Amino acid sequence: MIIKHRKESEELTIFNVLNRRMTLSNKDRQYYFGIKKGYEGEVMFDEFTEKLISDFYILNDLLFKVNNTLFQIDSLIIISGKIYFFEVKNFEGDYLYNADLDSLYKLPNKEYSNPLHQIKRSESLLRQLLQNNGYNLSIEANIVFINPEFTLYQAPLNKHFILPTQVKSFIQKLNAVQISNNDESSHLASKLVSLHIKKSPYTHLPEYKFEQLKKGVNCSFCYSFSISVRGQVCTCGSCGYEESVETAVVRAIKELMLLFPDLKVTNSVVMEWCRIVNCRKRISRILTRNFKAVGNSRWTFYK
Ligand SMILES: [Zn+2]
Repeated sequence: MIIKHRKESEELTIFNVLNRRMTLSNKDRQYYFGIKKGYEGEVMFDEFTEKLISDFYILNDLLFKVNNTLFQIDSLIIISGKIYFFEVKNFEGDYLYNADLDSLYKLPNKEYSNPLHQIKRSESLLRQLLQNNGYNLSIEANIVFINPEFTLYQAPLNKHFILPTQVKSFIQKLNAVQISNNDESSHLASKLVSLHIKKSPYTHLPEYKFEQLKKGVNCSFCYSFSISVRGQVCTCGSCGYEESVETAVVRAIKELMLLFPDLKVTNSVVMEWCRIVNCRKRISRILTRNFKAVGNSRWTFYK
């Protein structure tokens, strides 16, 4: 039973749009690719946990605060009075675990922060959170290396590492657990959802202004901006994908509203943003049909 679903963070959605409409600095692009890859890995792991039988309580993508410290959990499963939680890593390539130094390296020699330290911290904070709310369940923390192109040399035994070739059997083993869920598990699942912080204060979005962004509507299939309009249909000059003008314009307006939540979205702003429709009346009809008008003069804007 999936109690809390994962969805793309607002930060990642905004980065996706910005990446198409401006040139990101190297630092921003690196950060963006990192969160994108991390999210893709989490979605890959969800495909496995979705195969768990229905008596499991599955909560994805959680952010908690305990004693003024924030911590995040990629996936959490409650079963028979026990909590399993998972930190998912979408690492790719050859890595080495050095037991003497308790460190992880990407070969040849780039040191990575050891995810074991990360889950130890999360486990301790989760335990405090449970205690503060009157729960006392055992916790098992694991790191899932989800990418099939990941190799870990000198992988330690009993270190809570689940390697790409072990994910399937781990899930099968969970599925074989004798289930004795009680009310406590279901209460705890709801409690954790209520404690989840919806708006993450972690954000690394670059600064951007309306004037500096590329205008136009892009293809929903290949993201090209070379769109031509004929009647009610717009056609992508790069891949040939066809879409109704209204759908494409509405999508572009939603991007605009996401990027600039405080901007008053007027007819003129939309005409400048979308570029593909030159007729005020037509834009006005699309706006009226799909958004809520505020005011009724030439200053009308839409939400
Ligand atoms: Zn296209």
